[in-house]
Amino acid sequence: MIRYDLICDKEHSFEGWFSDSAAFDTQLAAGELVCPVCESKKISKALMAPQVGRKNNSRNAQRAAMAAENQGKMRAVMRAVRDYVESNSEHVGERFPEEARKIHYGETEQRNIYGDASLDEVRELHEEGIEVAPIPWPDRDN
Ligand SMILES: [Zn+2]
Repeated sequence: MIRYDLICDKEHSFEGWFSDSAAFDTQLAAGELVCPVCESKKISKALMAPQVGRKNNSRNAQRAAMAAENQGKMRAVMRAVRDYVESNSEHVGERFPEEARKIHYGETEQRNIYGDASLDEVRELHEEGIEVAPIPWPDRDN
């Protein structure tokens, strides 16, 4: 048995099972293939199976695997960013907003810093025209 993703002329997609590929052609020619939604007999094989809203477990699993892989890549990128920042900036911890202001207003030496700031603090810094960039900060998990 082979399974085909089928589609009617109104773009309803459904699946059909056939003993072989010739059986599909035979049944189609005989008018035995009918769209379960609109009963159209203008059926063809879907060249590309629509991904949206399909409840196909293997496909969902595939998608989950891809999402996990992307997440893994994302974490790797975030770790690289973290390593870069750590080795190129001075950690000022919770003094970050204060230090960022001092640098901005020339009260201390110009340098790269990183540290902690709440969303409110980041907003205040932005309002003062101080450029700060929130960076995703993954936990070290290995
Ligand atoms: Zn249809």
